[in-house]
Amino acid sequence: MGKILTIANQKGGVGKTTTSVNLGACLAYIGKKVLLVDIDPQGNATSGVGIEKGDVHQCIYDVLVDDADVKEIIKTTAVENLDSIPATIQLAGAEIELVPTISREVRLKRSLEAVKDDYDYIIIDCPPSLGLLTINALTASDAVLIPVQCEYYALEGLSQLLNTVRLVQKHLNHDLMIEGVLLTMLDARTNLGIQVIEEVKKYFQDKVYQTIIPRNVRLSEAPSHGEPIIIYDPKSRGAEVYLDLAKEVVTSG
Ligand code: ADP
Ligand code: MG
Repeated sequence: MGKILTIANQKGGVGKTTTSVNLGACLAYIGKKVLLVDIDPQGNATSGVGIEKGDVHQCIYDVLVDDADVKEIIKTTAVENLDSIPATIQLAGAEIELVPTISREVRLKRSLEAVKDDYDYIIIDCPPSLGLLTINALTASDAVLIPVQCEYYALEGLSQLLNTVRLVQKHLNHDLMIEGVLLTMLDARTNLGIQVIEEVKKYFQDKVYQTIIPRNVRLSEAPSHGEPIIIYDPKSRGAEVYLDLAKEVVTSG
C-alpha cells in the first residue's frame, strides 16, 4: 500500500513545490510508482511536471468539490513512473466552497483511497496556508514533510504549523506522523546558513534530514521548462541532492 506524504509549510517560497516535484520525480527515477497531487491553486507542481494548464479540463477541484472520479483526472507525465493530479486556479474557490459541505476535511482522503494501492508514494504539494486544503492533505496523509528555508526567522511560523498538525492528529488523523524536516536553499557561502542548520537541528533533532538542499540555479530554471531536475539537468547538484533525499525517504520507511 502506498505511503501518502504531504509537503507543507504555510510560508510561501520555502521550497514546497520544488521538493514535491523533485522528490516525486527522483522517487520515480529510482523505480517507485509515484502520484504527485497538486492542491495549490497556483498549480506550480502541475506546470512543473510539464502539464499545460490549458489542457486540464478537470482538476483536483472537481474531485474535492464535485466528487469527480479521481482516476479520470490522473495524468501521466514525461517522467516514467510519475503520474500527476493537476490543480488549476479554479481550486482557489474550493477553500470557501468546501466550508458548508459535509465531511469537508476528509474529501481528499476518501478520494485518494481509490488509488492508494496503485502507487508506492503519493506526494501532496500544499498551498502556503493552513486552510481547508492543507487540512485535507494532512488528514489524507501518513506523514508530513516540512521544508524549512535556511534564512533568518527560519523557525518562525513553525509552531503554528505544528499546532495544526497536532489538531489534525487529535481530531482527524491519529496516525499522522512528522516524516521529517528538510532544510532548503542553503547558501553555503554564508555563516547564516550554518547557524540556521544548528538552530533547526536543536529544535527538531533527529527529524531533520541529513540531506540538505543547497541553492542551485538549475533547480530554479527547471520549472520554466516544465521538467523536474532529474530530466532537465541530471548531472546538476540539484539533481544529486534530490536523489539523495529520495533514497533517504525510502530507507526511513
Ligand atoms: P513554495 O512552493 O514553498 O512556495 P517553491 O518551491 O516554489 O516554494 O520555491 C520558491 C522559489 O525558489 C521558486 O522560484 C523556486 O524555483 C526557487 N527555489 C526553490 N528551491 C531552490 C533551490 N534549492 N535553489 C534555487 N532556487 C530554488
Ligand atoms: Mg508552491
